[in-house]
Amino acid sequence: MSRLIVVSNRVAVPEAGKTAAGGLAVAVNAALKERSGIWFGWSGKISEEPSERPAISNRNGVKYAVIDLKEDDYQEYYNGFANRVLWPILHYRVDLAEFHRSDLSGYIRVNKIFADHVSKILEPDDIIWVHDYHMMPLARYLRERGHKNRIGFFLHIPMPPPELIQALPRHGEIIGALAHYDLLGFQTESDKENFGRYLESRGGQATADRRAYDIGGRRVKVGAFPVAIETESFARRARHAMRTNFMKDFRSSLGGKKMVLGVDRLDYSKGIPNRLEAFESLLRTTPEWHEKVTFVQITPKSRTAVPEYAEMDRYISTKAGQINGEFGDVSWTPLRYVNKTYSRSALAGLYRVADVAMVTPLRDGMNLVAKEFVAAQDPNDPGVLLLSQFAGAAAEMGGGALMVNPHEIEGVALALRRALEMPLKERQDRYQRMMAVLTDNDIDHWAQTFLDALIEPSQPALDSL
Ligand code: UDP
Repeated sequence: MSRLIVVSNRVAVPEAGKTAAGGLAVAVNAALKERSGIWFGWSGKISEEPSERPAISNRNGVKYAVIDLKEDDYQEYYNGFANRVLWPILHYRVDLAEFHRSDLSGYIRVNKIFADHVSKILEPDDIIWVHDYHMMPLARYLRERGHKNRIGFFLHIPMPPPELIQALPRHGEIIGALAHYDLLGFQTESDKENFGRYLESRGGQATADRRAYDIGGRRVKVGAFPVAIETESFARRARHAMRTNFMKDFRSSLGGKKMVLGVDRLDYSKGIPNRLEAFESLLRTTPEWHEKVTFVQITPKSRTAVPEYAEMDRYISTKAGQINGEFGDVSWTPLRYVNKTYSRSALAGLYRVADVAMVTPLRDGMNLVAKEFVAAQDPNDPGVLLLSQFAGAAAEMGGGALMVNPHEIEGVALALRRALEMPLKERQDRYQRMMAVLTDNDIDHWAQTFLDALIEPSQPALDSL
C-alpha cells in the first residue's frame, strides 16, 4: 500500500501517549496509520530563523513533521492573505477583503517553502492529501519540482461562483492553480459546480458526467465529499457527559426552562448578530416565552488581530447586554453570552440538553456544530435543529432541520418559536431523518471515500493523448 502524506496549515501533534482530539484529526490519523503516513505542516510556532528541516515526532504509528514560520511569513501568508483575503472572498464577502501584494507574495512564498520540505520526503508512489485554503497552489509547486504523484485537495470552506472569484486579484495563480491536483473535493455539489464554471471560464472542458475537467493538458477530477463527524462516538460522549458535575450544575441552573443553544467561533460568517436579533424579536413579539427560555451562546474569540473581528465582538457584546437589560429580570437572564472555549465533551452535554440549536451562518463550508448537535440528542426526546440554508450542512440535514434564511430576522424568530413548541412526534421524525444521514456518512467513511477517489486512476486528458 502506498504511503499517505497529509499536508495542512496547522498540525496539532498529540501529546506523547495521547491520541488526537477532534473528529477530523482522528479520521486523518486513522488513514495515516493504515498507510504508515506522515502529517506535514506548521507547528503553530514563530521563530526568527526558518526551519532547515522539519521537527519529527512519532505518535501511535503516525509521523508528524512540522516547521516553524518566521514572523513576516505568518503575518503575510496566514493573517494577511489567508485570513483577510481568501477567507472573506470564499465566504462571499468580497467587501471585507483587504488585498495587499506583499501578502500574496508571502502566501506564495510559504507555499513554496512547504513544497520544498514535502519534496524532500516524497517517494514516487506516495499519495498526497492537501487540506484547505491555505495551501491552494501547493500542487503546482510540487509539479514544478518534478513530482508526478497523485495529489488530492479538499476545500473545507465554500467555493463561490466564478463572478466572485474573479474579484480576487491574480486569482489564476491561486484558484486556477487548483487544476494541478488530480482530485479536488468540495463540501457540496453547489461548491463543486461553482468551481466547474470557474474552470470553464478559463477554457476547461467538462467530461460528459461533469466529474472531471480537462485543462492545460491535464485532467482534474472533482467531487462533493461532505465532511462528517464521528457520529457513534460523539453520541456516546453526549450520553456520558450527562453524568458529570458540570452538566448536573448546568441543568440545575436552567431551573426547568427551555434552552436554546448557539456554538460558533466569533466570525462574521456565522451570523451571530442576526441570531441575537431573532431572539430579541421573539421576546418582543411573544411575551408568553418570557421567563421560560434561556439562550446560551458560546462564542470563543478567534482572529482577534483582524479589525473586523474586534468590531463584531463589540457589536455582539453590546447587543447581548441590551437584550438582557430590556427583557431580563432579577430572577431571569434571557441570554448567557460566553466567550470561553469548551471541550468537545462539555459541548456534547450542552447539545444534549438543548431544546433547540440555532445554526444560522450567512455562509459556511459545512458547519460541524449542526451535525454534532444532532448526534448528541436523546432519541426519545430530541431537540430541534434550526439551520441556515447557507450552511453546507443544509444539503444533507435539510430533510430534518427547520430551514431558515438568516437574513430574514422575523422568519428566524417564527422558526424559533415553532421549534420551541414542536410536538414530540415531529421532533423524533426529524431527528431520525438526520441521524440516518449521519450514520451512513461518518468521518471514517468521508476520509475513505476521498482517498478511494484519489487512488482510482484518472483517464488522461483528451488533448494530451
Ligand atoms: N468547538 C469546541 N469548543 C468550543 C466551540 C467549538 O471544541 O468551545 C468545536 C466544535 O465542537 C466543532 C468545531 O469546534 O467541532 C467547529 O466546527 P464548525 O465546522 O462548526 O466551524 P468552524 O469553526 O470550523 O468554522
